[in-house]
Amino acid sequence: MTQYRGRFAPSPTGPLHFGSLVAAVGSYLEAKTRGGEWLLRMEDLDAPRAQPGAAEAILRTLQACGLRWDGEPMYQSRRSAAYRTALARLEAQGLIYACGCSRREIADSGLGPDGALIYPGTCRNGLAPGKKARATRVRIDNAVIEFEDAVQGTIRQDLAAEVGDFVLLRADGLYAYQLAVVVDDAQQGITDVVRGADLLDSTPRQIYLQRLLGLPTPRYLHLPAAVNAAGEKLSKQTLAPPVDARDAVPVLVQVMEFLGQAPPAQLRRATLDEFWAWALAHWDARHIPRRRSLPAP
Ligand code: GLU
Repeated sequence: MTQYRGRFAPSPTGPLHFGSLVAAVGSYLEAKTRGGEWLLRMEDLDAPRAQPGAAEAILRTLQACGLRWDGEPMYQSRRSAAYRTALARLEAQGLIYACGCSRREIADSGLGPDGALIYPGTCRNGLAPGKKARATRVRIDNAVIEFEDAVQGTIRQDLAAEVGDFVLLRADGLYAYQLAVVVDDAQQGITDVVRGADLLDSTPRQIYLQRLLGLPTPRYLHLPAAVNAAGEKLSKQTLAPPVDARDAVPVLVQVMEFLGQAPPAQLRRATLDEFWAWALAHWDARHIPRRRSLPAP
């Protein structure tokens, strides 16, 4: 049996908030209670959206919360060569094509499960005369992807109908998250992906790319995503407050409550070491609420 390898992969667009701490703690406890490793990856691919100093601030907050990662963190900003190689492999198989459509040109198209436009395949058979290549897309022919999520159950997606040929290299020259995450999970030898359920609908795209690239598919466990009172996912855009790392135990206890682990009330006054001793002894993934989202405390 291969050893369990989990990971936490934050995007350094701002300080760590409650929602990202849920993903960090959930992935950490799953890894550590299975005798596994917990790796870190900074998803700083989108340099324009990255906030200076945010990556360091996230690492400091994780440390202050008592979360210790194995090995050196991986930085996506240093991995373009690997993404280029993966894209070249798909190109050699005739699986990608240049697309010249602007967002406006596909705006009439239907919306996929994550609210993104379903690409109607306009440039599939070559660019129309006068159209300039902008993005690179992967072809999808008849790909119905089904997988078993440890919390969310059976997920099935008809990629052609629900997503369409999706972007791997963006018009601004950046590699897309879907490609980078697949290449990096394989490079880091990840056996188990534990993350927020806001990424559940991206998973079939990732499994599709794993198959095209001949990479293994990890097991998946999607935790409920933390949402605010308006039902929006906590993020920098929705002004989620940063985690207060000077007083980590109370928020860690809230994370355990959020994940259905029923921590005792007195745990709030515990030391960090006492908190982790309790969490590691009591973590049980079967108690995680089978919901895609839940209100943050
Ligand atoms: N970087 C993504 C985020 O912060 C997570 C990606 C993943 O876990 O696959 O939402």
